[in-house]
Amino acid sequence: MFERILFATDFSEPNLKILDFLPEFKEIGTEEVVVVRVINLNRVVGVAGGINIDEYIEECRREAESKLTEIVGRIECLGLKAKPIIPIPAGDPVNEIIKAAKENDAKLILMGSRGRGIIKEILLGSVSEGVARKSDIPVMVIKHKTEVKRLFGRILYAHDLKEHSERVMKYVKFIADKIGSEIVLVHVVEKGEKLAEEKLRIVEDELSGYKFKTIVRHGTPHKEILKVCNEESATSVFIGGGVPETVTEKLLGSTADAILRYSKVPVFIAKS
Ligand code: AMP
Repeated sequence: MFERILFATDFSEPNLKILDFLPEFKEIGTEEVVVVRVINLNRVVGVAGGINIDEYIEECRREAESKLTEIVGRIECLGLKAKPIIPIPAGDPVNEIIKAAKENDAKLILMGSRGRGIIKEILLGSVSEGVARKSDIPVMVIKHKTEVKRLFGRILYAHDLKEHSERVMKYVKFIADKIGSEIVLVHVVEKGEKLAEEKLRIVEDELSGYKFKTIVRHGTPHKEILKVCNEESATSVFIGGGVPETVTEKLLGSTADAILRYSKVPVFIAKS
């Protein structure tokens, strides 16, 4: 399921710490890591006046290719195949990362997040949020400051009892089958709603045989999910990505957006 994954790197030290998690991916069946670095042209557009874009790209490519080779070497040392995307793409990082994942048939996009403040994100745009929102391939975002040592030891599976969370089930089970993860199934009943007990039972039935417990909370989904994550010492959160449905979601962003932005532990998000 995760034979080939794509690692998006900005070459920063905290981003490269993500390589420490690769042995765990190997345990869940990863064989090859495709590495992509994008020359970010969003930054140049505003100052393009005096500079020759082609020369700029060539210079960035020369610098980046030697760094990519170094990263590929580090991955190979872990006993995994590694493939750099060369020539290094130049453009918008979000689009280029998604394109590289598709073209190389990657089953997951693994990336970091600087977890900047909201104002900066609005001004500069967050690459991880952009990829998570647009990608049809599952994405795992690991905050640069994360303190988690293992990703899949204790998975918090946030389920809204609708189809888009159900799609995440196959990934949760696959990983738990491989490494015996504990699963914390969390459902939040929103204000004015009633617990759909029957639907919850069906989800619980699907998890029978796995090490899991269920937690039902009442309130705002992302707030409760993040609270439970903390209380239960989850090592990652698994959520379904979807198109915003309600008016509030359209205005404020979806639960997935909020979890991605505020979660301290890595977030796995899948739409399909
Ligand atoms: P964010 O803090 O949300 O902008 O996301 C930062 C993460 O996006 C990094 O850890 C990388 O995984 C990825 N990223 C950002 N810029 C680039 C780039 N130029 N090339 C490849 N990946 C990038």
